Amino acid sequence: MSYPPSSVTPRRLADGGYSYGFVPVWRLHGTNPSVTVQAQNASQQASPGTGAQGALNNLFCLPKLLSHLRSSPTPTSPPPGIDDPPPLPPKDTVTAPTPRTNPYTWLVPETAPVLEGFLSLIYPSGTFTPFPTDPLITLELTGRVIRAALGYQSAKALALARDHMSGFMMDRPVDVYAMASFFKFTDLSKLASQHGIGVPSSDWGGDTRALLGRGALARLEELQGARMGGLREIVNKEMEVDEHSAGCGKRGRLEEVWKAKVRELELGLRPDSELFELLAIDLSGEHCENCLVQLGMTIQRCLYEARELPRSV
Ligand SMILES: [Zn+2]
Repeated sequence: MSYPPSSVTPRRLADGGYSYGFVPVWRLHGTNPSVTVQAQNASQQASPGTGAQGALNNLFCLPKLLSHLRSSPTPTSPPPGIDDPPPLPPKDTVTAPTPRTNPYTWLVPETAPVLEGFLSLIYPSGTFTPFPTDPLITLELTGRVIRAALGYQSAKALALARDHMSGFMMDRPVDVYAMASFFKFTDLSKLASQHGIGVPSSDWGGDTRALLGRGALARLEELQGARMGGLREIVNKEMEVDEHSAGCGKRGRLEEVWKAKVRELELGLRPDSELFELLAIDLSGEHCENCLVQLGMTIQRCLYEARELPRSV
């Protein structure tokens, strides 16, 4: 690169480290010395207080500065107070600094994996890894990157990380539900709750409960309770009956088989059940064909009614 994209004004921090304020190079190359001073002052004003906060501000300002460089202000509209506009940077040779070759460092509150995950989302594919979401290997890391994306107000990183979070839904539905609820991703939390209804609340970990919060926890427990109650009500209705079965001598035997099946189902009933277990009923032995039709209609009714129960928060 023949023309550096920015110049750096290192600033000594209390802990001995340096904070770097980025100043567009075209401003430093201006003919008026006061312009340089103004630029440096502006940079230092953007990093007051602690080193971490100052560096955070620097990183936060980076996209703005980069877009400023790319957009190349026109000579017809110089910054106020500048009579002689500084030379503009050459358009095609100025690129954003790439993290792997950038010799400068920033001090930020994020840990290295979180920052790497975040930067990988906002930089073009291939800068860090073949796919932007490759560094997001765990749900926890994805959550921290989402928090960083919210903090740095990056819509792009936020959208990518949120979509990536849904990939953990099959394996850890309740955790995804908790995290989506925490970040108020309504659609994602609804979807995750569909998968999370099958996980009994006794299996929810402490971290999950803490993240869930009172409201989200109550909503998922209510959903599970409503489904369990609804499923029990559905299977405990009487068997279907018609004119024949009402007076059939073999009807009683088939009802016993049905009631035994219902008891067995209730013992292992889970909130995410769709009552397909009823299809595996043992009908060995002699049964009245006409009454069997009523049993089939009973099972069919149960399956249909189970589909009507609420499935998400
Ligand atoms: Zn019969």
